[in-house]
Parts: sequence; C-alpha cells; structure tokens
Amino acid sequence: MHRLATLLAQAGNRRDPATGAISTPIYQTATFAHPALGASTGYDYTRSGNPTRQALEDAMTQIEGAAGSFAFGSGLAALSTLFCLFNSGDHLVVAEGAYGGTTRLLEQVFARLGLTASYVAVTDTAAYQAAISPNTRAILVESLSNPCLLVADLPALAQLARERELLLIVDNTFLTPYWLRPLDLGDGLGADIVVHSASKYLAGHNDTIAGIVSARTPELAQRIGYLQNAVGAVLAPQDAWLTLRGLKTLALRLEAQQRNALTIAQWLCQQPQISRVYYPGLSDDAGHQPLRLFATGYGAVLSFELTSTDAVATLIEGVKLIAYAESLGGVESLITVPAIQTHANLPPAERARLGVTDTLVRLSVGIEDPADLIADLAAALAR
Ligand SMILES: *Cc1c(COP(=O)(O)O)cnc(C)c1O
Repeated sequence: MHRLATLLAQAGNRRDPATGAISTPIYQTATFAHPALGASTGYDYTRSGNPTRQALEDAMTQIEGAAGSFAFGSGLAALSTLFCLFNSGDHLVVAEGAYGGTTRLLEQVFARLGLTASYVAVTDTAAYQAAISPNTRAILVESLSNPCLLVADLPALAQLARERELLLIVDNTFLTPYWLRPLDLGDGLGADIVVHSASKYLAGHNDTIAGIVSARTPELAQRIGYLQNAVGAVLAPQDAWLTLRGLKTLALRLEAQQRNALTIAQWLCQQPQISRVYYPGLSDDAGHQPLRLFATGYGAVLSFELTSTDAVATLIEGVKLIAYAESLGGVESLITVPAIQTHANLPPAERARLGVTDTLVRLSVGIEDPADLIADLAAALAR
C-alpha cells in the first residue's frame, strides 16, 4: 500500500484500459446498454453506479482505509442518507457546535420522523456518556468544532461507542484524511463511519458541492450502499470528476494552507484590535495537545474575536483580497461572521454559550502568499 500523498496524486488514475487515459473519463450517461439478456457490464443506471463516481469512491476507500465509500450530491445529502440508517424512536448524541445545516437537518427534518438528538459539550467525554439512553444508536462528532475549533477526545469516544455498542460517526470535513483518519485511531479503535462535505478541502477550489461517506466494515458499507441507491442523493459524474481532481493536490494544498494559517494566527495574536484567536495550531490553544494525540495537523480554519462590532464591520468591509463569503477549505481565502451567517439560525443565548459572539470572525485560509493575506487584513483593520 502506497503512502497517502501517492494515493492522492494517483487517485482515479488509469481506469480506462480501452484508451489508457490517465485521467478518469467523465461518463456523462444516465444508463448503460446490456451486452446480453440478463447480463450487465457492471453498470446499469447512473443512480445505482457510474464509473466516474466509482473512481472517486474507490479512491476515498483507499485513502480513508475503509471497507467502502459513497459519493453524494452534497455533505448534507451524505448526512441525510446516513440518518436513514436509523429508525423512528432512535436517539443520537451529537457534539455541540456541529455544522448548522447538520443541526437543522436533525431538528427540523429528522425530528419530525422520530429521530431525536441530545447535544453535549464537545470536549466533555463524560457528558457524552451521561447523554446515552437505551434508545441511543450513535455518537456524531466533528473533527474540529465550528467556529471555535474545539477538539473532542476521539479515541475516548471510540472506546465509549464500542462499550455501549453505538456507531461513532465523525464528520471529518475540517481535517480531511490527510491529517486525520478516524477509522483508525490506534489500539484497534476507530470510528465506524466518516462523513465529509467534499465541497470544502477535498474538492478544494470553491467550485463544487459534494459529500462522501466511508464505512469501516463491509456490513456497514453494504447498508450505506443500499441507502445511496434507495434514497438517490448521488453525486453527478462531472462533480465526481472535479472532486477526484481536487484530491490529487490535497497534500500540497493542505500543507500550504496550514502553514499560512499558522503565520496568520501568530500575526493576529499580536494585533491590538484582536482580543482572542482560536487556532489549534497555536501551541497555547486548548485543542493543540489533544489534537496531537490522534491527528497529524491542525487544519487551516481559524477564528478570532475583535473588540467591537464596529471593528467587525470595518474589517469585513475593508478586506479586498479575502472574499467575504461562507464556506471554507478552498484555495481562495474566505472570511465570514458566524453569528450572522453560518450560525444565524441558533437562538442568541445558545450562540453566546457556544462562544459564537457578534464580534467573532472566521477565516478559512487559502494558498495565497501569506504576506498578501496579512497586508489585506492589516489594511482593513487600520481603517
Ligand atoms: C459544509 C459542511 C457540511 C455540509 O456540507 P455541504 O456540502 O455544504 O452540504 C457538513 N459538515 C461540515 C463540517 C461542513 O463544514
């Protein structure tokens, strides 16, 4: 088995023996002709399977060390399909500060169908344990919480899930398999399912919406594969190709983004207008040591507190190079204000409890020259 950077660079390579094409062709077809009565090429209909999507799914299976992977039309399509594993009356324990769309999906959609959830403090393993009841079926946690980048003790949660016979589901969007492979947390422990919004780092260019699910066991992979076809929220061939193309440079992009993020975080710590910086790559950040125990990197999203809401407006309206936009993980840096965007649907008291203040700004750091990013931030802060 090759090393990760090699698997990534060669993702989907040489899948077409008829032509030797290096890049996986985009099989833009809805259906496939059968060679004989009752026979199949292995592909029948693109919802059920498509060679371009299959190339992406096979690459993710190798990269995550999974039994099987499945590509969906978005991260939320992936999560919706996963939640269809559960029955009415089932219960999930979910880490607080989960992606807003995940909470909305659970509270506004699946709650009506009888799937309930309790939310617990990200870093408090005892709280997860206390929230488990006889109808609990799974723990859902993100590799870094959003926007304050808190770190859950994933090995402890994997142990807890095993003891209580629950599924551990990790949304690994913020760290990607380049920095964290949740299916293998060491000592035979691991998550059961990994889910990604591939719209972020995996595709990586702010140009595609996609989701991926990888399963640790063949039995789970079989169940998720069944649901992928039954629910039908699949990734289209063109977007599968874009995601596969993104994977090839994941290692390079993430190294550059993380390096830039650390440079910017250290610079932000020295600015008088900024009262607090959240970035687990900083050695004094609360998440730094915990993350080092099971991940190889810290990501490239950081958040910081300004001293007033006026300063937030000045900054957001002052940046020229950095775009004021939601999302994260792409090669272009993006800045956002969680309280009025990604977390706007939470009640104010809940936002305050999670540290999502009106003066908190989130920055997704791209691959630009960090000196230009810092100059852009400095000019905007100085206005
Ligand atoms: C963006 C995001 C999602 C949702 O993914 P989409 O591709 O936007 O549907 C889920 N989880 C996390 C952590 C995200 O950042």
